[in-house]
Amino acid sequence: MQIKVDCPQCGGDIFFDEELEMVRCEYCDSTNLISGKSGVPLFMLPPRWTEAECCHRLSILLGSKKSLRMNKDQLKLVYAPYWRTKGMVFHWALGKRHSVSEKTGARSWDDAKELKTRNFDFSFPAYREPDLGLDTLGIRTAALPLQLFHHSRLSGTEIVLPAEVSLQEAIEHSNGFLTFGFSDRSLKVELEDTQLVGEVYSIVYFPFWLLEVVARDKSGLLIIDGVANRIKRTIWEQDLSSFIESQSSDISTTDFGTLNLVPCTCPVCGWDLPFTPESKNHICTTCTRAWAEKNGSYTEMDYQLIAVQSDCEHAIRYMPFWNLKAQIHTPKGVLKTQTDLRKLLPAIKARQDGKMGSDSIQFLIPAFKIKDIKSISKLATVFCLRPPEQRVRAKERLEKEKFEGVYLAREEAEDMAQVVLISMVPKYHRRARKLLKDARLKSSSIQLVYYPFYRKGLYLREANSNHSIQHGTVVLSSD
Ligand SMILES: [Zn+2]
Ligand SMILES: [Zn+2]
Repeated sequence: MQIKVDCPQCGGDIFFDEELEMVRCEYCDSTNLISGKSGVPLFMLPPRWTEAECCHRLSILLGSKKSLRMNKDQLKLVYAPYWRTKGMVFHWALGKRHSVSEKTGARSWDDAKELKTRNFDFSFPAYREPDLGLDTLGIRTAALPLQLFHHSRLSGTEIVLPAEVSLQEAIEHSNGFLTFGFSDRSLKVELEDTQLVGEVYSIVYFPFWLLEVVARDKSGLLIIDGVANRIKRTIWEQDLSSFIESQSSDISTTDFGTLNLVPCTCPVCGWDLPFTPESKNHICTTCTRAWAEKNGSYTEMDYQLIAVQSDCEHAIRYMPFWNLKAQIHTPKGVLKTQTDLRKLLPAIKARQDGKMGSDSIQFLIPAFKIKDIKSISKLATVFCLRPPEQRVRAKERLEKEKFEGVYLAREEAEDMAQVVLISMVPKYHRRARKLLKDARLKSSSIQLVYYPFYRKGLYLREANSNHSIQHGTVVLSSD
């Protein structure tokens, strides 16, 4: 989905993908952070036809239909709001799988553990009335750039339907579709967990043309999809004036949560921050501070750098992880330490560093961008089962270091840790399965930590552990 904004330096049009955090203006070359994405952004799709084009085309179309006449000049543009939910779905199912032996015909139930994933992109009406004949935006949002919805983009003669479905209702409605199509009759599920990670909710105002039409014995409103230019349906016994009266729409009361561009420079030393378009956090390699942007201003954040053994000759790239300390609440009590968790999940390696407080339950969640959803869970699981050495290096001389962007927001790390927790449950382990069935993870602290990786053949490898991920599944911000 593409979004269009104006450059604050030169006024030029900047088009960018909705997932970006940072943009460069192709006219004046300035770099800016996109601020204001944390709320519910409002977007619009402009109609493809102008009013005159619409009138002209419809009169040709209806000219061939003797039964329907258009009521000249009774045409109106209506913007109807749709909720749009985007994110990654992780669905774990553990239980027994039914199988029939091909040779003997014997039936059996075997332990099974399966992860299903999908990229979730779901839209549905945020208005309740009337039925405009379009239940979802489908792939329409991919075909045209979305613009920020703002009253300055409207002429004042349009009707804007109010968004009556609340965010809470939208969340609940979306959640009902996360596992759509995942059901599997031959699997008897004993433990199930679904997480929507990295979710973003936005509202997209979609254009419809409404045209008064007259048939032999009745009249009504013809509804036309303003992007696909297709007739959706006819609402009989309704005309434009009664339609307008029935809508109490008033866009002047709409809260336009809007995107702003903020210069991409370190607020302390003034140097440019590295251009990592998809990153939510930014390290100033000049003064070594890390920044997070919120509501147009920067906040400094804590981070750690893991040292590389001195004999490592490879070119290092620092990859971000969220280091989350957590407790696991189960119906039978709280698991507080790594030792508690190891009793249940013996695959977790005991830590040998013996540091104070190092026995708390720890999750290491990759925060960089990984294209393949299953690889995210795989890498996170390996890091949690066998955490690499965590000798910290001093934050000095970072000018030449490469830092990969933080793609997974801090708030998302806990959802992902839940996915990893289930991932660590062995499929044959009944007791673990039972205990973790209604378990909830509660994080007590979370910190950004960068691990040193280097490229080896098809893989990116962590320098102190050899944990690796296929190079092709990682989206690197620079080479
Ligand atoms: Zn510019
Ligand atoms: Zn700085």
